[in-house]
Amino acid sequence: METEPATATATVRLNRKATGLARAGRLWFFADDVAAGEVEPPRLVRVLDDASRDLGLGFTAAAKIVLRRCGPWEGRSVPDRATFFARRLQAALAQRRELAAADAGPDAGVRLVHGDGDRLPGLVVDRYGPVLVLQVTSAVVEAALDAIVPWLVDAEDGVESVIARNDVAARRHEGLPPDNRLLHGRRITETAIVEHGVRHRIRPFDGHKTGFYLDQRPARALVRELAAGREMLDLFSYQGAFALAALAGGATSALAVDQSETALEQAVAGAAENGLAGLTTAAANVFDFVRGDAAEAGRYGLVVLDPPAFAKSRRELRGAERGYRDLNGKALRLLAPGGYLLTCSCSHHMTLPRFEDVVRQAAAGKPFRTVLRRRLGAGPDHPCVVTHPESEYLKVLLLQRCD
Ligand code: SAH
Repeated sequence: METEPATATATVRLNRKATGLARAGRLWFFADDVAAGEVEPPRLVRVLDDASRDLGLGFTAAAKIVLRRCGPWEGRSVPDRATFFARRLQAALAQRRELAAADAGPDAGVRLVHGDGDRLPGLVVDRYGPVLVLQVTSAVVEAALDAIVPWLVDAEDGVESVIARNDVAARRHEGLPPDNRLLHGRRITETAIVEHGVRHRIRPFDGHKTGFYLDQRPARALVRELAAGREMLDLFSYQGAFALAALAGGATSALAVDQSETALEQAVAGAAENGLAGLTTAAANVFDFVRGDAAEAGRYGLVVLDPPAFAKSRRELRGAERGYRDLNGKALRLLAPGGYLLTCSCSHHMTLPRFEDVVRQAAAGKPFRTVLRRRLGAGPDHPCVVTHPESEYLKVLLLQRCD
């Protein structure tokens, strides 16, 4: 791509307190962090500290978070957006290529761009075979789609369709409407990925998130590894990705529990398509299921507990903690001696120490020891910036019942 001349320099200067936060690696800033400079309209700016020293680039927004930093850039001016996005996207794709060697196979899905983790705040790009799915939660990114989409199509081989899955609440913060649409190529409503030999159907327009829980790949690999000879229970199964991984790994049976009949039908279809026997399903509220007679104490060699985010805000955290504690306690009760519980939380507000506390409380008073075997998170295609705790949302613990 040709480099166009740089545009006039827009700057935002942080105040003293925010300068300290920026030095500590904080990426997001609020209106009262800004000492000078306009944050509206949304645009790419040069960020300065309180002594006007350069802190690289940022996206501004007419929102609660008025500024999101997006990394260093040479000089003191603001590049044109085509140049900026081309360079950041190139870096993101290069990193995914590096990962590919140790990955789940050539036809596995992959997150190509993970927002702040790739210095592209407000942009997610997932690839499922010939389909790219974008999720845009920044007005700056939205305004640059005319540069981003052709660049991606050009850079990635075999892309036949690019869609926007913009039905996420976070868009409201920047006044962006929900908006699912085709951005390039033909409309593909269903495709598939093959991950570690298991085929998963993806519906880019109406599956959860961008179509699949790509972030749980490391956990699916672990489940597959542990499953041989065990009875498996998949709680909050959605389309049964964990159950299929367990059956592929030699589980003697898998029971998928979800409140969505449609999701369970897809799980059954997935098992058939992969030639995996042993899947049964139960359409139920998991909170009721784990209390009821169908949930047999001491039966399962492997339980996966992967609920939706209970705490959508800090205010909801206490209630959410009660929910997690209750579910984890009940799930531990279902384990056979030597059985594993893979327990997950994808609430941003539930930090790892808090989640571990909840699990500890759930394990207290049980007539067996509960041993923490592994801590996992999202896969390496979902890079977390350690100085930006908001980017580490998925916590996964592997526990084992040891009598
Ligand atoms: N484990 C899945 C993802 C789970 S998403 C995977 O790896 O693909 C959360 C799922 O929980 C959704 O399918 C939703 O239908 C289901 N769900 C939400 N609340 C529920 C409840 N109270 N009881 C049963 N299922 C529920």
